[in-house]
Amino acid sequence: MRMLDRTAAEWLMDISGLFVQSVAVPAAAIYLASVCRGTAPRYSGALHFSWAWAFLLNFVVVDYLYYWNHRLLHGPLWRWHAAHHTAKSMDVLITSRNTLWTPILIVYIWANAAFLYLLADPTPYLAAVAVSSLLDVWRHSGFGRFSNGVLITPADHSWHHGSGLPNENFGANFALWDRLHGTYRKGEAPKSLGLELEDSLWKKLVMP
Ligand SMILES: [Zn+2]
Ligand SMILES: [Zn+2]
Repeated sequence: MRMLDRTAAEWLMDISGLFVQSVAVPAAAIYLASVCRGTAPRYSGALHFSWAWAFLLNFVVVDYLYYWNHRLLHGPLWRWHAAHHTAKSMDVLITSRNTLWTPILIVYIWANAAFLYLLADPTPYLAAVAVSSLLDVWRHSGFGRFSNGVLITPADHSWHHGSGLPNENFGANFALWDRLHGTYRKGEAPKSLGLELEDSLWKKLVMP
């Protein structure tokens, strides 16, 4: 099985990334929201959004913010994102491969903490977070060799993991942002994936 075909360093990077993304980042967002509640209780639950608007706030608005966030990660913040691009093939564990500190440079943790604090009922917002996370896992799974121009599919995202310096398909949920800004590329997956990084495991994980 190709997923099991990893070096010890890759296992360490992917499992630690999985822990950061699935435990540390949500815990940090919950903690930040509680700090906001403690320091400015007045605005806690001040946003009364309907179920649909609260869902779309995350699924569409935060997704658009992430598009530009991801472009920044490919600009001045590249060294903090390069580790994600070292995968030679796609599988679900690649989803969370990153330098350990990189999530603090990504809009999700801040937006999720802010709306957890501000929304009167954050449940639909959190439902959208869950759907976005599932789509993230799917995008990296390699299952889906098609493009539909609406969602970023595994085929679309594999172009973003090509072995050249990627300059396409920065979107997470929606392909619309890439289409709008001229960075969309669709079709069969590229011939080879992944960048060579000479950095040591320590550098990739902690000090890129
Ligand atoms: Zn990227
Ligand atoms: Zn990726």
